[in-house]
Amino acid sequence: MSRYRTILLFGAPGSGKGTQGKIIGAIPGFQHSSTGDIFRSLDLQTDMGRRFWEYSSRGELVPDELTIQLWKQYIKGLEYINQFHPESEFILLDGMPRNGKQKELLDDVIDVRGIIYLRAERDKMVERLRRRALKENRFDDASDSVINKRMDVFGRETRPVLDLYPQQLIHRIDATMSQIRILSEIVTRVLVPLKEDLDDGRMKVDPVAAEVAGG
Ligand code: ADP
Repeated sequence: MSRYRTILLFGAPGSGKGTQGKIIGAIPGFQHSSTGDIFRSLDLQTDMGRRFWEYSSRGELVPDELTIQLWKQYIKGLEYINQFHPESEFILLDGMPRNGKQKELLDDVIDVRGIIYLRAERDKMVERLRRRALKENRFDDASDSVINKRMDVFGRETRPVLDLYPQQLIHRIDATMSQIRILSEIVTRVLVPLKEDLDDGRMKVDPVAAEVAGG
């Protein structure tokens, strides 16, 4: 099986990954996939749903194997129902991998072509999470101690994952700029070059298919 072409949307809780991911997911050729959203869509009455609640309400990560297995099923499902077309689209992966083990488990499934790293100071992100708690009613944003725990987990386990990828893939973007400027930087620095590359390559392989896919 060939690996999914993937762009990682990387950053601490509160860095704005979800906001940007949702917008980019509306652009043809990019499939936004957020592990947090997938977990939150689970029925809390099911075993998996309960396990998610148990970990996330403490600010902890869901166990790695479980997370990767759930995500693989999810993306295969989208492929089966024709909502994701790996031959012409990128996955914009938001919230994964979150540690070295997850990276390892994903290496034979995803082919990472670019990494968008949204950066801001910790205080700024904590402030955003506090505001989000009021707006979105998320139990994992509800207390400062859980928020701080998540920021610690990011610093200790997730941030170092960046060192495991070729450094030329990483695009550092200032997450304190306006949303539209962040979007503009992501589009021009990362998405346009990757998408045009993919389309050009496909054109060379099969001009008719590429033309149909490109509209
Ligand atoms: P945030 O980026 O604000 O932490 P997410 O929506 O990405 O929010 O994640 C919410 C929670 O879902 C996490 O705190 C964690 O418990 C769980 N989660 C999401 N992605 C993963 C993952 N890749 N591995 C393990 N747990 C995850």
